[in-house]
Order: sequence, then structure tokens, then C-alpha cells
Amino acid sequence: MEDRSDVLIVGTGHGGTSAAIALRQNGFEGSIAMIGRETELPYERPPLSKEYLAGDKPFDRIAIRPAAFWPEKGIAIRSGVAVVGVDPQARSVRLSDDTEHGYGTLIWATGGDARRLSCPGSDLPGIHTIRNRADVDLLRAELDAGARRAVVVGGGYIGLEAAAVLRKFDRDVTLVEAQPRVLARVAGEELSAFYQAEHARQGVDLRLSASVEAIVERDGRVAGVTLSDGETIDADIVIAGIGIIPSVGPLIAAGAAGADGVDIDELCRTSIEDVYAIGDCAAHANVWADGAVLRVESVQNAHDMAMTVARAICGDPQPYRAFPWFWSNQYDLKLQTAGISAGYDATVLRGSPEDRKFSVIYLRGGKVIAFDCVNDTRSYVQGRKLIEAGSVVEPATLADPEVALKSLL
Ligand code: FAD
Repeated sequence: MEDRSDVLIVGTGHGGTSAAIALRQNGFEGSIAMIGRETELPYERPPLSKEYLAGDKPFDRIAIRPAAFWPEKGIAIRSGVAVVGVDPQARSVRLSDDTEHGYGTLIWATGGDARRLSCPGSDLPGIHTIRNRADVDLLRAELDAGARRAVVVGGGYIGLEAAAVLRKFDRDVTLVEAQPRVLARVAGEELSAFYQAEHARQGVDLRLSASVEAIVERDGRVAGVTLSDGETIDADIVIAGIGIIPSVGPLIAAGAAGADGVDIDELCRTSIEDVYAIGDCAAHANVWADGAVLRVESVQNAHDMAMTVARAICGDPQPYRAFPWFWSNQYDLKLQTAGISAGYDATVLRGSPEDRKFSVIYLRGGKVIAFDCVNDTRSYVQGRKLIEAGSVVEPATLADPEVALKSLL
């Protein structure tokens, strides 16, 4: 591989690969290289806590593109090596194998590292995170070797999805969440209550407002978890689903502005010339959250920021305004979310949780800002249009299933 590229992309996940593909689609003819510290060719991350963990999809079915695609498109990939330093003056990066790679434009698309437990015993074998294929292969190996009792720490989407898969495998699952409800960071109380009831019905033992004080050790590996109230829960494995730490160390050390992640403007530019950042690691003012500065951890965000950067590099700059959407699969429940609910001041329930088909609608100042739809794709599709139109609708009207959402546009 050349040791200089016109566009150098750090990270071969959803953002990095989308950027490389979009550059070619936009007619970019210069050299493109991607550097990724994982050894695999690019693959989709969402199935890791869903179909791949469940064994329903083999690894080759979660590849982002067939192996031949990348050389065909003139996109060089260097795998199994990390970028450890950035020199903006020399326009080059330093790699973990002590080589350097120059760039004309740099795209930083490194996502984040799974946050690890920090209590006594938290480095024992048997404690898992779910961020990479290697994490899931290790977890699957321990399940196959007979691990029966699991404690999942964290009631966010990844923890809940993992709990659902483990119940499918008929494992004993205790889920520990520090907040009084699951999904507290991302959803309203109606959605939390529904998922709590559903997981309890499926046999998950939920411990809310509980935190992990220590990991119990036996024979050099995890044997249990001690909670803040002193109770110890026996466990063969522990899965920590407690968020990520954005992987931005080398970029911040090089002088890029940032605190939680790296700061970008509306064209995804960092404060360093010709260095863009996209995806999970990029803190931006989001127009769908009233301009609040945040990081969005979704495939949509990584993909659409990549489009923004590709257009900017190809001379057609357009500010990032892409509409946010997300999904989560647990048991037979398909959750689809549209918009960003952060900052809501009222919620409306449309449909009935007992029917396992309903939506939670979020309002701010009377305006519809987000939908969480459970097995309710029609509301998701039509709700998205209401949000995009900035609609103000009476809560009673939104709640009435006899009123078609599309009639409110
Ligand atoms: P990533 O896809 O994480 O890619 C970053 C890559 O950069 C990684 O391969 C990383 O190893 C590499 N890297 C990091 N630092 C360096 C370095 N210094 N040098 C070289 N390489 C480096 N989103 C949804 O929308 N729906 C879902 O259902 C969903 N489910 C998910 C389930 C799981 C288990 C996980 C982990 C995530 C899920 N997400 C989901 C989130 C989604 O996968 C992420 O938002 C998306 O992958 C972000 O893309 P990215 O390119 O920013 O980061």
C-alpha cells in the first residue's frame, strides 16, 4: 500500500466505509485508504447483540460489502493496525506498527470503546462487553462451554438485546440498572415500563436503582456480582452494556477541540484543517434536538455524516441535517424510533401496550419531536413526516387511533 492517500479514513466501521463508498459514488477519483484496528473486513455492528449473538446470522452475512468490492472500487484497507498519533503540520498519522501514513484529507471515524466496569474485580475473566466481533465470539464460546447464569449490567438497548438473546438460549438472566427504569437516557416512562414488563414476563430478573459494588471471584474468574444493597447474585458471566468512550485520544492530543468526543461543525469539520470526524465519536449541534450538542450513536448518523463529508470533499458542501432514526429488536418486538426525544416536556401514548403494538409520541412546546414505535411501522413512517413538518398537534388527537396520522399533516 502507498504510504500517502488523498483521503485517509481512520476506522472501518459504519461511518468510515460509508464515507469511502460515498466518495466513489460522488465521483472522487483520488486515492482512498482506510485504516482499522480490527482484523476483519468491514462488518455491520447492530447484529452483534442480535442475530449474530443469537447464531441466526453467520459472520459472512453481516459483511458491509463482499471482500472483492473494496479493491474493485480502489479503496485500500489496512486492517489490524491502529492510528496512535496525528501530525496536522506534516499531514500524516502514526500507526501502532511504527509506520506513518500521509493524507490530503483525514476522516476520523473511530466510534468508541465499550465502557468497562470499574469496581473491584472488574478485570476478571468472564466479564464481557459487546462492541466488536471478537467480543461476541468470546461470549459465545463461554455460553457454548456451559455458562448458565448471566448478569447483564446496564438497561440500555445493548443490555436489553443481549438479555433477550440469552433468554432465547434459556440462560438465567439478571439485569442490573442504576436508574429507576430501563432506557432512562433515551426514552419516556411508557416505553421503559413496557420493556420492563416484557423482560420480566420472559423471565429476566430486573434489578432497578441498583448498582454493582464488586465482582465476586472464584478460581480466578467471575463467580458473582455484589450489588449496592449488599446482595450477591451468582453469575458465570457478566455482560457490561454501560455505554462507550469515544475513541478520539490521538486527535485531541493533536489539538482538535472536544470534550465528550471531538467537536465538529455543520460540515463535519473538526478544528484541525482538512480533518473531518463522523459517527459515534463526533459531537455536533443537532438540528433535530433544537441545536443541542450531542453525539448520536446510530448507523443512520454514521452513514449520513459520511454523505455530508463526501459531498464537502467533492465540492458540494451541504450542512448535516439528516433525519435521525434508530431500531432495536428484542424477542418478537421491533422498536423503531424517529427523531430525538431529548428535551421532551410531554408524551402521548397511541395504541395499547397490551396489544404489543403501540407508539410513544414526544412533544416539546406542543411540537411533535419524536416517535418510539413498537411493532407499529405505520406510525413510524407517518410520525416521521409529522416531525419533519414541525407539526403541532393536540395530544388527544395524536392519541386517538381512529385519527390517521397522515391526515394531520
Ligand atoms: P464503528 O462502527 O464503531 O467503527 C469504528 C471503527 O474504528 C471500529 O472498527 C474501531 O475498532 C476502529 N477504531 C477505533 N479507534 C481506532 C484507531 N485509533 N485506529 C484505527 N481504527 C480505530 N445502531 C443502530 O442504528 N441500530 C441498532 O440496532 C444498533 N445496534 C447496535 C448494537 C451493538 C452491539 C453496537 C455495538 C452498536 C449498535 N448500534 C446500533 C450503533 C451503531 O453500530 C454505531 O452507531 C455505528 O457503528 C457507528 O459507526 P462509527 O463508524 O462511528 O463507529
